[in-house]
Amino acid sequence: MSSNIKNFTDKSNKIQNHQLLFINGDIFLGKPAKILKNQFLIVSNGRIEKFGDMKNFDSKNDNDSQTQIIDCKNLLICPGLIDVHVHFRDPGFKFKEDIKSGSESAIAGGFTTVVCQPNTSPTLDNSMTIDYLKNQITQNSEINIKFYCSATKNSLGDSIVPVQSLIKGGAVGFTDDGLPIKNAKIMKDLLRYSSLYNIVIAQHAEDHSLSDGGCMHHGSFAQKYNFKTIDPASEYSVIARDIALLEDSELKNARYHVLHVSCKESIQYIRQAKDKGLKVTSEITPHHFVATCDIFNELEEKGESPSLAKMNPPLRESDDVNAMIDAMRDGVIDIIASDHAPHDEDSKEKSISCASFGIVGLETMLPLSLELYFNKKLSLERILEMLTINPAKLINEDSHRGFIDIGAIADLCVIDIHKEWTIDVAEMKSKSINSPFNGRKVKGKNIYTIASGVVLHGL
Ligand SMILES: [Zn+2]
Repeated sequence: MSSNIKNFTDKSNKIQNHQLLFINGDIFLGKPAKILKNQFLIVSNGRIEKFGDMKNFDSKNDNDSQTQIIDCKNLLICPGLIDVHVHFRDPGFKFKEDIKSGSESAIAGGFTTVVCQPNTSPTLDNSMTIDYLKNQITQNSEINIKFYCSATKNSLGDSIVPVQSLIKGGAVGFTDDGLPIKNAKIMKDLLRYSSLYNIVIAQHAEDHSLSDGGCMHHGSFAQKYNFKTIDPASEYSVIARDIALLEDSELKNARYHVLHVSCKESIQYIRQAKDKGLKVTSEITPHHFVATCDIFNELEEKGESPSLAKMNPPLRESDDVNAMIDAMRDGVIDIIASDHAPHDEDSKEKSISCASFGIVGLETMLPLSLELYFNKKLSLERILEMLTINPAKLINEDSHRGFIDIGAIADLCVIDIHKEWTIDVAEMKSKSINSPFNGRKVKGKNIYTIASGVVLHGL
């Protein structure tokens, strides 16, 4: 049975009505966050038709010559991974990434849904740019690509966007990511819209009066070279203000999401808000839980450019990492997101002070996240929940994506949890290779990616 695997990257395989049959695999359900051992799963017409214990598998299911069989022995079948924070740079910076290369990077990493950030050029704040983006998505991608729209016009912070019409155009939420929503009145108005339309307002929490000109956390590398630093207070003071706004009884249904948390103090504020029952969620990037600001020294020792680790918010200290991992375990942090931020070599090769912020992340997110499992910090189920069903909830896709059940959209990935490999930026599908993790030995690899019942990637 298992020898019947065809060339899945061949477009001729994308036959309507065809079936996929997965056998001998474990399944992570998502709802609930539970792993079932030794299962079969049948996909038909782009949906999950049936799954169950191999003991109850009826081989009659395999009679149809159109059925593709994938033997998942020692593999884990998961809902397709969902990344709610990517920068695909289109329109404006297609030399760094575009919808096609971004999608290919996502597919390689096991992702079937991603959410683009609106800091393109022009900014995603009007129907013409939305139409352009949707057209690019239709032409160049076979995965589910969603987008935030900017919260203020041109993300300049001065005036609010036409929220209602942008929701109609497809916005899953509003953010000025890259920049904070700094005006309290505008944030309060946005939170009112959030209550009204059940849509999330996502904050890049940064008070520029505490971060301007800074390029990293105040650690030994910054001290050695006298770099200007980014105070953690620049992040948590903004979160504290926003949560105070959210306490208005009129806003009890507003949904506020903290993008890429980086420090322990932010965790305290988010924890208190959740304890009060406020609708606050938060995300963390893999780099913020597998690395600290010491990575600058490590890169320098290896002869690599330390600017590869320049990101905003910056990597902080082990106390912060430990507090954030605790917060991932107990639900204060809900989501792992990559903040996939491709940059060309020119942008990154400048001196650290002048280099662009950000790293690519879609193809390293899964193994870096699994480090928390192999280090016995988090359960496998908790990690997978933060990569599937929780991000689906953030963007209101959780009724049909982010979990495995009969009738759900057949967005899947199949993971070899124990596969050991070495991150090699030369093998990445992204147009950009700005990663400080090149050469890192990792465990866990995506083997198949299936979107709407079509196999888009198979190793
Ligand atoms: Zn940001």
